[in-house]
Amino acid sequence: MSVERTFSIVKPDAVAAGQAGEILAHIEKAGFRIVALKMMRLTEAQARGFYAVHRERPFFNGLVKFMTEGPIIVMALECEDAVKGLREVMGATNPANAAEGTIRKRFAQNIERNCIHGSDAPETAETELRFFFSTAELL
Ligand code: UDP
Ligand code: MG
Repeated sequence: MSVERTFSIVKPDAVAAGQAGEILAHIEKAGFRIVALKMMRLTEAQARGFYAVHRERPFFNGLVKFMTEGPIIVMALECEDAVKGLREVMGATNPANAAEGTIRKRFAQNIERNCIHGSDAPETAETELRFFFSTAELL
């Protein structure tokens, strides 16, 4: 294991529900350092670009609509084995399958409106961090 960075989003459902603070506290209590953070609202083009890997999937248009419906919080997070660790703290994509005590078990509504994003691999984390943050913001 080594210190690593990952990328995360508090999604529009959780921001609108006033759960952003509790989700950030959950992440910090799990041992992550918040390296960078900002609130923003995605344009349709940004959402389509960020989720381009899913563009052929049946849920893509709904996902883009959801991710652009309101403000989100984007974050760079750091700890040992951060990518895998955040995925564990988040829980399964479908909250019905998420383990007790995970963020999605606590706050997600369904497989689409699932409150948080986390990168799925170190290479993806690099790409996703670069999508939202400049070099200076990641110092
Ligand atoms: N999603 C959806 N329907 C599905 C699968 C995924 O609406 O059947 C949405 C959901 O918001 C999910 C995102 O698309 O978080 C990206 O899907 P992915 O399989 O990458 O899940 P994640 O990595 O977020 O767990
Ligand atoms: Mg994913």
